[in-house]
Amino acid sequence: MNHITFLGSGGARIMLSTQVLATGGMIISLDDTHFSLDPGPGALVNIFKYNINPTDLHGIIISHRHLDHSADVNVMIEAMTKSGSVKSGQVFAPSDALDIDPVILKYLRKYLREVTYLRPLSNYIINNLPFTTSMPHQHGSEETYGFLFHGRNTILGYIPDTAFFPELLDFYKADVLIVSMLRLEKSNVLHLSVDDVELIIKSIRPKVTILTHFGYQIYQKGPDKIADYLTEKTGQSVIAAADGLEIDF
Ligand SMILES: [Zn+2]
Repeated sequence: MNHITFLGSGGARIMLSTQVLATGGMIISLDDTHFSLDPGPGALVNIFKYNINPTDLHGIIISHRHLDHSADVNVMIEAMTKSGSVKSGQVFAPSDALDIDPVILKYLRKYLREVTYLRPLSNYIINNLPFTTSMPHQHGSEETYGFLFHGRNTILGYIPDTAFFPELLDFYKADVLIVSMLRLEKSNVLHLSVDDVELIIKSIRPKVTILTHFGYQIYQKGPDKIADYLTEKTGQSVIAAADGLEIDF
């Protein structure tokens, strides 16, 4: 069974600083590949809370270098490689997360079997799971990519932080779609709002859409209520993530 564990359902600065919602990203198990996706603050602490062994991970994928997506990458590498005693695991990250002002410490990289730079619209393999990067997202100066993971029977999509732009609708043809929905209303910050997500679901029509990475206003309004609202508006199945939520798909 394919499986997602949400090590956190919060995102952005207020949630990161207050931990009202946790911010550890997700653990994905698809076919026989297990990996950490966007290990924000708290990923390592929470992975143990949900009885996942970090040494079972095949790797870590980072969509972009913002802290709420990457702050725990170093401790996750340390744990995945048994404190560097077993050279193992793959890490995938955009080039600005690896160079210039890197979020992945250089001394840890030698513990890894492979460190790979992500490029736009390119194909990769983690363990034996193929995946494709999106076009660059519109998310300020940070290089940001989303992903399509090509499971044997299921395509899993992940749309991380971005402003809405129409090409998203062409790329993210997924059966199961995880969407970072940070904002209640449209604004000039480069994040998806509830209206943007409605448009995405109506166009792509995934079998199930899972909302996550909630900002404070979404939290106050109630993520479950918004998921119900979007289910009604789109006629599609929409679920809100929660801290510790586990979903089989
Ligand atoms: Zn971001």
